[in-house]
Amino acid sequence: MLFPTHLAAAALLGRWSRLSAPWLVVGAALPDLVDKPLATLGVVDLYHTVGHTALLAPAAVAVALASPAGRAVAVGWGSHLFLDALHVVLNGRPGDALFLGWPLVVPPDPLAMPPGEFLVYYLWSPSFVLECVFWAVVGVSLLRAVRSGRPLRELWDPPPRRPEPCSDRDEADR
Ligand SMILES: [Zn+2]
Repeated sequence: MLFPTHLAAAALLGRWSRLSAPWLVVGAALPDLVDKPLATLGVVDLYHTVGHTALLAPAAVAVALASPAGRAVAVGWGSHLFLDALHVVLNGRPGDALFLGWPLVVPPDPLAMPPGEFLVYYLWSPSFVLECVFWAVVGVSLLRAVRSGRPLRELWDPPPRRPEPCSDRDEADR
């Protein structure tokens, strides 16, 4: 998945959970912020390594147990791994999902393309089409929010529900 899609998906996850949207976004950004520079600098051969390995799950659980912010970061990180694995499976390269086991296992035939080259390859793949649908839904939601006059913040941070006012009938029953 493309980096902005990971961030938007994490922000939306904040809307449907009680987790902090900003911390979810931080967690979802981490895998690429760690791995892309490492691969670009030639420290590792692949673009899915340290930040994308599911072997960090015990560390993520420890972070999640430490605080509510840690829980959101861990879930955001997990959402990134899930979406990247979904992306390679959708694009007919399920073997690439072995990145989840790095360094114990590695994909047998990884793409190993730098980000710019990858973008050209990625355009119009099934996963890219899924991302287009996702962004269309986000766009429609934004448009509806703007038209309703509600603050855009409510898209990822809905206001708490107020208790329903008592009706006359409720009052009469008392
Ligand atoms: Zn990634």
